[in-house]
Parts: sequence; C-alpha cells; structure tokens
Amino acid sequence: MKYRTLGKSGLKVSEIGFGGEWLERHEEEESVALLQYANSKGINIVDCWMPDPKSRDIIGKAMEGCRDSWYVQGHIGSTYQNGQYVRSRDMKYVRPAFEDLLTRLRTDYIDLGMIHYIDSLEEWNTVMNGPFIEYIRKLHEKGTIRHIGLSTHNPVIGKLAAKTGFIEMILFSINPAFDMRPATEDLDTMWDGYDPKFSGIDPERAEFYQLCEENNIGLTVMKGFFGGALLSRERSPFGVAFTPVQLIHYALTRPGVSSILCGYDTKEQVDAAIAYEIASDDEKDYATVIANAPLHSYKGQCTYCGHCKPCPADIDIAMVNKFYDLATIQGSVPESVLEHYKALGHTASECIGCKGCESRCPFSVEIADRMEKAASLFGC
Ligand code: SF4
Ligand code: SF4
Repeated sequence: MKYRTLGKSGLKVSEIGFGGEWLERHEEEESVALLQYANSKGINIVDCWMPDPKSRDIIGKAMEGCRDSWYVQGHIGSTYQNGQYVRSRDMKYVRPAFEDLLTRLRTDYIDLGMIHYIDSLEEWNTVMNGPFIEYIRKLHEKGTIRHIGLSTHNPVIGKLAAKTGFIEMILFSINPAFDMRPATEDLDTMWDGYDPKFSGIDPERAEFYQLCEENNIGLTVMKGFFGGALLSRERSPFGVAFTPVQLIHYALTRPGVSSILCGYDTKEQVDAAIAYEIASDDEKDYATVIANAPLHSYKGQCTYCGHCKPCPADIDIAMVNKFYDLATIQGSVPESVLEHYKALGHTASECIGCKGCESRCPFSVEIADRMEKAASLFGC
C-alpha cells in the first residue's frame, strides 16, 4: 500500500481507503472482520458518516485495541432521528449525535472532524455563522477533533472551504462522469439537461482542484464509482464500463487527491481495490476507455493519462500539461505551481517538436503546441 500526505493535516493516509456506508448490511461480526482485514492490508482511513448505531458499533469494535492504526473521518451534523439519517445543524441533535459517535467508536478523539455535507450557499452561510461552527472550533481546541474537514459534492462550496484557512481537507465526489457536470446545489438534479456531447472537465471543478493543490487542502474521494454506474455499460453516462482499478486511478491522478474511499461488501472486493497497488499501466488505463466511449467529447483535452510517453527529450508530458492547466486557470501563475514545474527535471522548453507523442494521444491533444505555450508561460 502506498501512503500520501493528506493536505495540511499532515496525516499519511493509504491511497485506498474504506467508505463505511455498507457496513450495516451485514452481520456485525462479518463487518468487523472486513474492517480488520482491510486494515491488515494497509488501509488506514475510514469514513464514518453513518449515524446509525449499528455501523458505529461495528467500527468501534473493529478499532478496539488498534485505535492508532486508523484515521477516522467522523461527521458532525449527521444525526439519527426516529430510526433515520437526518442531516442537521440543530445543536439539540448535532451534539448528542457526535457524542454518540465517540461512545460507539470507543474513542475520545476523531482524527478528521468533518463538517457534514454542505452543498448549498445558504447552508454554508448558516453553518459558518452560528453555533455549529463554534462547536466545531471548540472540539478542535480541545483536541477532540484533531483536524477540521468538510464534505461536499459542490465545487463552489469546496472553493469557499479551501479558502477559509482552517479547513484542512475535503471529502469530495470525484469520478470521470461527475467531473464533466457543472456545479449544482442539488445532487439529484446533476444530470438534468444532460447532453452526451458534453465536453471535458467542468472549469469550476478544475479550479477547485487547483485551489486545493495551491492551498495544500487534502482531498479524499467519495462516489469514485458513481454508485457502481460507471462499472456498467448500461448505466454509465459514457455508454461504456470502467473497471474499479481504472476509476481508482482516475481519482488518484486528480490534483490534490490523497485517498479514494471505496465501499466493500466482501474481502474479495477489498482485494480487488488494493490490486490497484500492483496493477500494470495497461490495467490502470482509463483514457482508452473514455477515448473509445460512444458518448463523450474529451477531444483536445488532456486527462493526464500518460499515453503519450516516451518523449525523446524525457519530458513528463502529463505533468507539464497538469501544471499548465493549473497555472492557466488563474490570472497569474501561482508560485507553488511554478516551483513544482521547475522541479520536473525536464521542462517544456526542451521539446523538439517531433510530435511523436501526438500520434499516441487518445484525445488528439496538440502536445507540441501546448509545450510551446507552457515554456512561454513558465519561462523555461
Ligand atoms: S513533440 Fe515534444 S513533447 Fe512530444 S515527444 Fe516530441 S519532444 Fe516530446
Ligand atoms: S497529452 Fe494525451 S496522452 Fe498525454 S497525458 Fe494528456 S491526454 Fe494523455
């Protein structure tokens, strides 16, 4: 298992994490064993948004005696009322729900205290100017939550969070289908007006990723498989099925991402996800799938897939393109991006214009032209 630093939190989290939302589907002992199995394979981050007592008890039991081997994303504002999940900012419910989380997890701290699920501006304003955020700050001061995070599906909210200075990481929904859709405050309307001739990554999302990278905000990923839709040709908006390894690779190659949290029903599914760590480049290759999909138009847009290798000048074309995209989203080149670009070893100015790479690019990116533009933008 490889580990990545989760933004400002500094925590070293496993690239493949554990999304706990399916735990309650199984017998308690079975789910406890599944978590322990995942941990034995190197998975060290688990998301616990679930307010139901059973899931919380399961995670608590699995962590007993090995609390230090897990980083928990625990959500504040995810409450259980009359046997149902309710997202709430009402402290009458929020406080006892968080205390219940600690009790059932058999712990006195949460590594990543998540401001739970804000997708609308109205809710952002409510949360940021009231007793809810005061509660979060107090928990942080006392060390009950070690780091402050936020979960959202909306890049507009993500950008606001990335600029606060105190939110250290964000749980965000990332997959190749979501990445093409404009920001929305209501996830249920995301596919309204969907046109298969959509094109490439939504600029608002690209800007959000750029801000996270620039401000050292770590990203953990939810909905990486789009609830399984991207694993099925019939349900995928691309009209083609991806494999879990391809979708994991897509998420882990977005700027700022540290870990993808997958949901598991069985040990075999854990094995399938961690197979990513030993997968070949061909097995990880999501780009050919997108390029050959009947429903897409990523043409001309770099997906950082790396297919264009090798380059006679040893330029890491995907990385140059990534830094170029990050730099051009804003008016001026951010210092951190320039530094990373210069550290590449070989920069765009070394391009000899042979265009050998272009014949290998599945998305018809005009690479030589972009190298020229990158060299001029970065000055080397
Ligand atoms: S065109 Fe430039 S970037 Fe592409 S292979 Fe040739 S030297 Fe490398
Ligand atoms: S230029 Fe083309 S082949 Fe190279 S990383 Fe970008 S999309 Fe992939």
